[in-house]
Amino acid sequence: MLAPATLVGALRALGLLGATRQGATPDAFIAGPALGELIGFTGCAVQFGGDASSQVAAGPWLRVPPPSAAPRVLWGRNTRPPRCPRCGAPLRAWRMQLPDPATAAGGPPMGADATLPLHCCGCDVRTPALDWRWGRHAGVGRSLIMVEEVFPAEASPLPALTSALADLGAGPWTFFYVQD
Ligand SMILES: [Zn+2]
Repeated sequence: MLAPATLVGALRALGLLGATRQGATPDAFIAGPALGELIGFTGCAVQFGGDASSQVAAGPWLRVPPPSAAPRVLWGRNTRPPRCPRCGAPLRAWRMQLPDPATAAGGPPMGADATLPLHCCGCDVRTPALDWRWGRHAGVGRSLIMVEEVFPAEASPLPALTSALADLGAGPWTFFYVQD
C-alpha cells in the first residue's frame, strides 16, 4: 500500500496536482500544470484555465484521499449491477447486500469494504465484492486519485500517467466513473 505522502508527492512531481484547494478537505487539490498531458478530456464541458494562484481555479480538481487498509468498492447513481465472476450473471440486488457507505467528514463517500461477499442468485457462489465485474460504473481500490466535476467517460488517463503510476509499484491501477 502506498503511503499518502508518497502518492501525493509523486503526483505533484508529475504535475497532476497543484496546491491544496482552499476551503476544502486537506486531500483536495487544484489541477497541476500537466493535467492535460496526463488525463485526456473529451467533453466540451471541461474548461481549463482560471487563475492558478487563486487556489480555486475553474475546471476539474482532484482529491487524493488517504489509502484504506482494506480495498473498498465505490459506486454512484450511475452504477449498474455487477456481474458474477463465475457465471457472469448480473446481480440486480447488489445494493441490498452491501452496507451504506461511510462518509468522512466533509469528504466524499468512501464506499464499502470490498472484501464483503456478494451472493450470486445465478450460480449460488458467494465471493468478495472485489472479485465481481463492475465495468467502468463502479470500482475497487485502496489508493484513489479522484478527478472531480467531470462527466462520466469524459476523462481517461493518458499513457504518461498510467506508466508513471505503474512505476510507483502499487498497482494494478484502473479507472472508473461514479456520479454522486
Ligand atoms: Zn454466478
